Amino acid sequence: MEALLSGIEPSEADLVQMALDMPLDKKIEKAILFYQTYCDGAYGAFSGGKDSCVIKQLAIDAGVEVDWHYNNVTIDPPELVRFIKKVHPDVKWNNPKKHLITRMIEKCCAPTMFRRWCCAEYKEQGGADSNKIIGVRIAESPRRAKLWQQIVPHRKTGKLILCPIVYWTDRDIWEFIKLRHLPYSEIYDEPFPKGTRIENPSLKYDFDRIGCVGCPLQTPAQQQQDFERWPRFKDMWYRGFVSMWNKYHGTLNAKGKPRGFEKYGSADGWWSWWTIDRKQEEAKERTRGQCMFDEMMGQR
Ligand code: SF4
Repeated sequence: MEALLSGIEPSEADLVQMALDMPLDKKIEKAILFYQTYCDGAYGAFSGGKDSCVIKQLAIDAGVEVDWHYNNVTIDPPELVRFIKKVHPDVKWNNPKKHLITRMIEKCCAPTMFRRWCCAEYKEQGGADSNKIIGVRIAESPRRAKLWQQIVPHRKTGKLILCPIVYWTDRDIWEFIKLRHLPYSEIYDEPFPKGTRIENPSLKYDFDRIGCVGCPLQTPAQQQQDFERWPRFKDMWYRGFVSMWNKYHGTLNAKGKPRGFEKYGSADGWWSWWTIDRKQEEAKERTRGQCMFDEMMGQR
């Protein structure tokens, strides 16, 4: 009998697909129950993005108290920062001691897919002593699909990471925003007129996801788009590379060896690798299974 049934039992992938396909009203119902069961008094990670707006509203709908915090990464788009200040003044700010680029120069370490030190220092700070609500969704990337479920124990503290919208799709997010008339950052509408995003949730916009300007976890094309949209941030990053080169070129690293960036020949060579060429290297490293970091926990 067991052998007969095993063929028709849904696999884990089937169950995940069923969760993704569930109608929005059911997802809202389940999310509210989830909040009421696990989230009262939790720490909430709020980035100002669309997913954050949704998880914050769901807590209100569920009638639970959440202590919302914004991690100031210092390189978020100014429009997003203004949106948070204006529309979500109740959110508390975790401000770092130093600007991210200043830290990069100090550490002499350009962040990459395999060196996400700034995620750990800037994006994931706060809430270590509490259960933490985050707006991660598996629909955002296959990598997230492998790593995330509704409840994940933190690997160091054992506290719970609570993911109430982990099975929500992009369309669910935009439909919920429309249903609840939630304000959202104007950047999502670019380059279309304001308010059009909400009417066309499946359209691909230039800024489907918003976060650190120039983040190297994006593709070089997306990074370039950020730099065109916010040229001041491009200057800031570039000047950071020049400062690192000028400060550390010709010196030895902690192991007494020449520094890895010397192979690029100049600050401009290093910059060009970081903005254009690094992807090939990252792809090779990924195939060799050398990824050193967990998927970032912050939502965009
Ligand atoms: S999202 Fe990108 S730029 Fe922002 S902290 Fe993480 S790695 Fe650094």
